[in-house]
Amino acid sequence: ATVIVVGGGGREHALAVALAKSPQVAKVICAPGNGGTAVEGGKISNASCGQSNDEIVELAKSAKADMVVVGPEQPLVDGIVDELKLKCPGVRAFGPTKAASILESSKAFSKDFFKECGIRTATYENFTSLESALDYVSKLPENKRVVVKASGLAAGKGVLIPETKEDTIKAVKEIMGDKTFGSAGDTCVIEEFMTGPEASCLAFCDGTTAKLMPAAQDHKRALDNDKGLNTGGMGAYAPAPVVTKDWQDEIEEMCIKTVQKMAERGTPYVGVLYAGIMLTPDGPSMLEYNCRFGDPETEVVLPLLETDLYETFVACCDGNLKDVDVRFKDGYSACTVICAALGYPEKYPKGLAISGLADAAGVEGVKVYHAGTKVVDGSTKTSGGRVLAVTGMSRGLKNAIKTAYSGVSKINFTNDAGEGMMHHRTDIANRAANAKLR
Ligand code: ATP
Repeated sequence: ATVIVVGGGGREHALAVALAKSPQVAKVICAPGNGGTAVEGGKISNASCGQSNDEIVELAKSAKADMVVVGPEQPLVDGIVDELKLKCPGVRAFGPTKAASILESSKAFSKDFFKECGIRTATYENFTSLESALDYVSKLPENKRVVVKASGLAAGKGVLIPETKEDTIKAVKEIMGDKTFGSAGDTCVIEEFMTGPEASCLAFCDGTTAKLMPAAQDHKRALDNDKGLNTGGMGAYAPAPVVTKDWQDEIEEMCIKTVQKMAERGTPYVGVLYAGIMLTPDGPSMLEYNCRFGDPETEVVLPLLETDLYETFVACCDGNLKDVDVRFKDGYSACTVICAALGYPEKYPKGLAISGLADAAGVEGVKVYHAGTKVVDGSTKTSGGRVLAVTGMSRGLKNAIKTAYSGVSKINFTNDAGEGMMHHRTDIANRAANAKLR
């Protein structure tokens, strides 16, 4: 089969590698891919094209694709799956339709949906006018902490966590008055502030049921000890020991309920459902759904998958997931994201030379996934903030981390003056590994 993977991050590199392992897959075309998928070789190649619906439909036709797997949320929310179903009826499109992507594209919808399904979630109110939101905040008890969220897509930035009432008012004005996040802030959700460790739980969904993958934890902040700015993700590990077997089962139940309810609504959910969970004293509580694989969670979860990914995706598209025994390896994986200098996520240099990739790949148990890289005149250069995701795998979590960092130690980024320009966190998964003492 020929499979197109839409997107160009570490997530898509990991998807391409996992799909290429299937004996049923002859070709994986990354659209547009990155410097890693450009030189991965074997079945994997890049197509130079954009991610618009028209370009992907065109590519699916010209490449005679059998399946299109969509990585990022934007094309999904833009209806790429609907378009493919309409214009390329023989092609399996893995991902939710525009209507089903509402679980990510509207937090107000998903909060109401959680309530309707009986899924545990923070108490909340949705608002469509600045006045009503401000009125609500003014009536909150003085020391009641809340979280203010732009309902629409805001590239992971639309959640504000004020500490005082004054800041809460500011947050509401920023979202609904100043429209800092554009139309994403036409509706806002104000919800109870909760505390607890978080986990990313990804589930395969086929429109009727869901099967959960091992829970992952990611590291959002740029610097060690969760300091610094929020980023797309600086590392992750899986399975996350804080998610017990009972909780894993409970979270899977939440996903199954979700898929059943979406089918009842006439918007069946096919693809990956990413549940952002907070582990509260009352049990797992749903923060949000994303309608696609996470990045860098994919780079730790997929290497653990034992079952054929292509077959699993086929089953999801065909509604046969219950017949697939989705199995994962026994070990652990940990991944460290390497960024371009300390400037990420703000300003960072591009076009840095990358050395040591072959040495890193030579370390047993290491796989280097590329994100912001590009091949220029035969050599790999940085082209984004998050550049590489270095995954280490081992039977124990501590060793998986050690393996990832021994891969990282082989790599360097340098500018034209030959200065080192690499930044990564040094504490990925430490807390879990130390707690587990493995
Ligand atoms: P993502 O980048 O994962 O897409 P997002 O911006 O869409 O995130 P959420 O995941 O809902 O939005 O929230 C982002 C973060 O804000 C959460 O990971 C969590 O740390 C924090 N958060 C969200 N809701 C709450 C809450 N009710 N109480 C405490 N913290 C919260």
